[in-house]
Amino acid sequence: MNNTEIFNKALEVIPGGVNSPVRAFLSVGGNPRFIEKASGAYMWDIEGKKYIDYVGSWGPAILGHAHPEVIKAVSESIKKGLSFGTPTKGEVDLAKILVSRIPSIDKIRLVNSGTEATMTAIRLARGYTKKNKIVKFEGCYHGHSDSLLVKAGSGLLTLGNPSSSGVPESFVNDTITLQYNNSSIVEEAFYKYGTDIACIIVEPIAGNMNMIKPKKEFLESLRFITTKYHSLLIFDEVMTGFRVGPQGAQGIFNISPDITTLAKVIGGGMPIGAIGGKKEIMKHLSPEGTVYQAGTLSGNPVAVAAGIKTLELIDEKDFYINLSNKTKKLTEGLQKIAKSMNLKVTSDYQGGLFGLYFCEKIPTSFEEASKCNHEMFKQFFNSMLNKGVYLSPSPFEAGFVSSAHTDEIIEQTLSIAEDSFKEIN
Ligand SMILES: *Cc1c(COP(=O)(O)O)cnc(C)c1O
Repeated sequence: MNNTEIFNKALEVIPGGVNSPVRAFLSVGGNPRFIEKASGAYMWDIEGKKYIDYVGSWGPAILGHAHPEVIKAVSESIKKGLSFGTPTKGEVDLAKILVSRIPSIDKIRLVNSGTEATMTAIRLARGYTKKNKIVKFEGCYHGHSDSLLVKAGSGLLTLGNPSSSGVPESFVNDTITLQYNNSSIVEEAFYKYGTDIACIIVEPIAGNMNMIKPKKEFLESLRFITTKYHSLLIFDEVMTGFRVGPQGAQGIFNISPDITTLAKVIGGGMPIGAIGGKKEIMKHLSPEGTVYQAGTLSGNPVAVAAGIKTLELIDEKDFYINLSNKTKKLTEGLQKIAKSMNLKVTSDYQGGLFGLYFCEKIPTSFEEASKCNHEMFKQFFNSMLNKGVYLSPSPFEAGFVSSAHTDEIIEQTLSIAEDSFKEIN
């Protein structure tokens, strides 16, 4: 069967033919590729076509796909059983690794996804502060729980709108959605609603509106204002955790949040999520405290085994220097080629995360990212895909480089990109 045939079958039995919306290729046209297997920097679809992969399962595959040592750790774990519904030693080992690597985390709870982690973080912030409202930023994605599916209104400080049907108006009233990188609007919001704001949740480097870096002063202002108003600062590092650096974005900007959410890399490709923070806050989670949270498969032994092995392997000396050099080579290369053809394309990166923007200047907010040339991105994406390079299928998604992307693979990518840029120019 080819990709189109199986997609048509998928459409009959799965809404939209996919189990997560961005996989449907709606932003880029055409049918999604059904991937059969992946190894290192490569994926193969069911037609046997090979791709250099720059999505990496949306972040987890920081060591490349199917790293032999991760596969071995998972295989050994599987032989002992898949799930017990009891505590296991592996969970304690993984928790200890995470607590030791990220200074702002004293205690951590494992869940099954990033969505669960952020949903729990919000409840914990509300339970701890006894306040109701939350602040988030336009273009940041924090999973698909009700409170977090609210987009900005028409004005900078007008009430937001649900970004999904099925989200009640009452949730919208408690979620304030502001512009990223705009400290003064945050100040205004706190001036108006501060006494009832439980937390700010933010992607400390945004990776879900393409990659958008924060201004350092912006993150510092969030730390300052939440402290001043006795609200909590939540860094959603589901994407950036162990991807942009060994201590996530908080290590890069040297800012200590009250709560951190993690997922993706810490599961090494298996389903996992985590909420960590100060002891004083974490003790409010059940069964120690009164903020309820639970999960049948939480801390699943197989996922934990994959996570521990991945975290061990990325702890090797110079891992992030080498990873950054690869991403730098790719993004600077792309920028140089585009420039030589007078195309308005630019790029940015941090660690193994990158942004490729079809606009003149690197965007600093969702609004700016929205003004890039999405039509040109679409053409570039499809040309690259045909030539065997798999980029994120949306202009609002970031790109991912793994340690398995060799210099040679990156050079090959750049030469393909040169052809694709020529084709669309
Ligand atoms: C991916 C992501 C999530 C959601 O994680 P899931 O595991 O897909 O539920 C939340 N926050 C950020 C920043 C993410 O990138």
